[in-house]
Amino acid sequence: VSDLAGRQVTVAGLGVSGVPAARALRGLGASVTVVNGSDGEPQRTQAAELEPLGITVRLGDGETLPDGTELIVTTPGWKPTSPLFLAAAEAGVPIWGDVELAWRLRGRDAPPWLAVTGTNGKTTTVRMLAAILEAAGLRTAAVGNIGVSLLDIVLGDEPYDVLAVELSSYQLHWAPSLRAHSGAVLNLAPDHLDWHGSMAAYAADKGRIYEGNQVACVYNVADPATEDLVRAADVEEGCRAIGFTLGTPGPSQLGVVEDILVDRAFVANRQKQAQELAEVSDVNPPAPHNIANALAAAALARAYGVPPTAVRDGLRAFRPDPHRVEHVADVGGVAFVDDSKATNTHAAEASLGAYEHIVWIAGGLAKGATFDELVLTAAKRLRGVVLIGADRALIREALARHAADVPVVDLDRTDTGAMAAAVREAARLARPGDTVLMAPACASMDMFTNYNKRGDAFAAAVHDLASGRVPDE
Ligand code: ADP
Repeated sequence: VSDLAGRQVTVAGLGVSGVPAARALRGLGASVTVVNGSDGEPQRTQAAELEPLGITVRLGDGETLPDGTELIVTTPGWKPTSPLFLAAAEAGVPIWGDVELAWRLRGRDAPPWLAVTGTNGKTTTVRMLAAILEAAGLRTAAVGNIGVSLLDIVLGDEPYDVLAVELSSYQLHWAPSLRAHSGAVLNLAPDHLDWHGSMAAYAADKGRIYEGNQVACVYNVADPATEDLVRAADVEEGCRAIGFTLGTPGPSQLGVVEDILVDRAFVANRQKQAQELAEVSDVNPPAPHNIANALAAAALARAYGVPPTAVRDGLRAFRPDPHRVEHVADVGGVAFVDDSKATNTHAAEASLGAYEHIVWIAGGLAKGATFDELVLTAAKRLRGVVLIGADRALIREALARHAADVPVVDLDRTDTGAMAAAVREAARLARPGDTVLMAPACASMDMFTNYNKRGDAFAAAVHDLASGRVPDE
């Protein structure tokens, strides 16, 4: 810790992770400069907060390396190919993410980290894990990419026994010295390829979660790429590869037998083949992708030594976060479901697979994705599709190729009011018993500040529909 005192540190970016990082570094006695390419109202407000602490903020130039920089601490928005980082590489300046910084600053008796990554299901799994650890009487918190800064936890006064940590591929990319107690990669599907450059680079960054694991590397049996990452990792002696599967588990796996979640990896009693953990109905909601999340959480908790009863109690206590396959209302016999958090095709595929007859509201920012596979798997379930957002043409073209007989309404809009219009169009297409599912398979930032706002707009429009109100647009 002391070796950051007096050092010249440049923080790349403001916002939810840049501001706490700058504060923390300054608190450790570093000489801090924050750089940010934009120079708008929000950035100026943040700058005004930091400058009185003796932090220099440079707005409007995120590219030139400040003179004398010895270390860069970056926020997730910055691509590895940013000119600032190329300049840093040339000058031999190391680059850390907020997770790397937190890892290095953790104290001597710091709690071990149970870490979770994957394309989808991270937040859900980390919350399930925290609920299980709590049920075991442990002092814990769900932290990291979930919206709770690891730096605040590491530098705070609250004591913890163990942490349930969500890590994004960006955070893992810039966290070379992280060594978790145990880690899990839930699944791997193309996402954020515009940031990482390629699927291989994205997978390799996810795989860093296994590096140096002490007890268990948890992988998804149905997703062999995750097991490949375990094999490629350099782990501590005695660390085991533990699989989870929706089918009957093999040795060293957790799985499902006759609607019971069972553990064949950490069986205490040698006479026993498998340890029963919980019933499928204890998982909320008991959709296949969510049972997989529960098994992954259980595997990490069991690796930490949590008893089976705590797994059951924790899963029962768990409540899903909003905007994740959330039932909003029934209107005229049609169920309206908000899966705004389905920001990529892999997530949308999971929720589209959970309903029989669907009117699908989709579109937004595609982030370099293609939609052929998603449309092909969902085609038979689609009653109709309503498209909104910047990249909707990509989905429309995939529908034309693979589901030509499905009625498509292209709203040709990217304004915020488009969601209300989409809900009304969807209601027109739906028949009683159908589900209107807003699972956009795209990011929200073309129309909304974030996926929460998109989900809220959907829910508001559904409530207007239910009460017969027609909102102003
Ligand atoms: P993340 O934190 O990785 O974004 P969340 O737990 O917030 O994941 O879930 C995001 C969305 O991904 C959910 O709304 C759901 O549609 C989908 N999802 C959740 N778990 C899985 C899974 N295991 N496999 C595929 N899709 C999933």
